[in-house]
Amino acid sequence: MATITLARKFRFEAAHRLNKHKGQCKHLHGHTYKGHVEIEGPVGEDGMVLDFQNMKALLNMSIGLLDHSLMLHENDELVNVMADHDQHVVTMPYDPTVENLSKRIGLSIQKYLNEDETLDAWVKRVVLYETPNCWAIWRPVE
Ligand SMILES: [Zn+2]
Repeated sequence: MATITLARKFRFEAAHRLNKHKGQCKHLHGHTYKGHVEIEGPVGEDGMVLDFQNMKALLNMSIGLLDHSLMLHENDELVNVMADHDQHVVTMPYDPTVENLSKRIGLSIQKYLNEDETLDAWVKRVVLYETPNCWAIWRPVE
């Protein structure tokens, strides 16, 4: 079956810290995360794999919560402190590394794709840049 891969860029601003890091990343700091998601599937009768507006909506659902947030491991002692000061804290059961974030975004988009029975498409890759020189590529397990 012939398939086509679509891609759409995204970006969000967020802060984090990596508690277990031996270097500078243990300190609170921020990034402009940039990336793109690739979604693959067969071309339907409408000539499309997936409407780009749908991709935008999928990205908003998967990334919207992270924008202008402070991403922390759920066990980080800063969680309650920052939440008490009305900061937008997003906790996760893992360290907010670019590896884990790319996986989180990929699995989230895949979940939304799976829930819509009218769509025959799947996430091929998520590419997430933490800095202009450092990025992660997540692929689902085959
Ligand atoms: Zn960082």
